[in-house]
Amino acid sequence: MTDTAPTETASTETAYPLQFSLVPSTDQRAEADRESILADPGFGKHFTDHMVSIDWTIDEGWHDARVTAYGPLQLDPASSVLHYGQEIFEGLKAYRHADGSVWTFRPHKNAERMQRSARRLALPELAAEDFIESIKQMVRVDGAWIPSAPETSLYLRPFMIANESFLGVRAAHRVGYYVIASPAGAYFANGVAPVKIWLTTEYSRAGRGGTGSAKCGGNYAASLLPQMEAYENGCAQVLFLDGETGSHIDELGGMNVFFVHGTDTLVTPRLTGAILEGVTRDSIIQLARDRGMTVEERDVTLDEWRLGIESGEITEVFACGTAAVVTPISQLKGHGISIGDPDAPAGEITMALRQELTDIQYGRVPDRHGWLTRLDA
Ligand SMILES: *Cc1c(COP(=O)(O)O)cnc(C)c1O
Repeated sequence: MTDTAPTETASTETAYPLQFSLVPSTDQRAEADRESILADPGFGKHFTDHMVSIDWTIDEGWHDARVTAYGPLQLDPASSVLHYGQEIFEGLKAYRHADGSVWTFRPHKNAERMQRSARRLALPELAAEDFIESIKQMVRVDGAWIPSAPETSLYLRPFMIANESFLGVRAAHRVGYYVIASPAGAYFANGVAPVKIWLTTEYSRAGRGGTGSAKCGGNYAASLLPQMEAYENGCAQVLFLDGETGSHIDELGGMNVFFVHGTDTLVTPRLTGAILEGVTRDSIIQLARDRGMTVEERDVTLDEWRLGIESGEITEVFACGTAAVVTPISQLKGHGISIGDPDAPAGEITMALRQELTDIQYGRVPDRHGWLTRLDA
């Protein structure tokens, strides 16, 4: 490294950490209203009293970090996000431990993934320190919204949009980053139940060189039509094959998939660039290795799945992601295809991995990998 003089050009880099200002909401929900929401929060239905906003412009970089009342954004109808979909998001949870303290799980992973998503969508990167501070700010101001019943949490949704008023097609010169938060009930209120999933052979969610590994709204928009087909066929989620050959498994619309072979091997599709690199996926791989299991990240064909179920070699199939943690899959259905038994119970290894992961997240067992970050101190 050689010493270089500081440059005085207009820079997209702003000094950080950013300082957040707070203008408290004058319209906060009464405690009784909040408690009745927290008693049955559902998922993504109710939002807390505040939100975080940070502005970015090409001339000033990131600036004006603030916590304000939750409320509608003012967007010019020409805002580029409304026309060209330049948008990314993240999803993570704040967990209340038995002693009342509040923690989140591997937030640096989300911060770094958001930076990768930003690069792919030609959006500016937010420093990991600022990302994590934005989460802490939300918890500081709306900590009372974190439920404490088992398997409940506060779901945190950071997102970034292009909001320059300009219809020319190029990366926007004006961007907003926001965090909203929503209390989340236990995903499986009546115990973890295996789900059926729908195989779409007609539609892809990602292609070679596309945005499959970025967490962007556009990928979800592309998944909604096949997702409707899934619902119509009694399935909870849609499974996508790779866009190039249509022969191997990519992932679900919003979750990664795993196969248990026998009792000691875990197989999951390798990260091809078309698959979203889940934090849960990465954590499950680590926990399986800790248990002495062999983990293979490789191509998995549809034929391997079918033959593996028929021969008994594949003993369990599950999906994973932050929202539902780990979800057993009983059956794959599609036009002229059925793999597995819709009445199959949740697998033992599936449930053990789920238990271990949630035990770490809720502080019920030691955090041996240093995965937790305290948010309220
Ligand atoms: C967010 C997401 C996942 C799961 O990622 P986690 O970090 O485990 O929550 C999987 N697939 C897609 C397409 C996603 O958007």
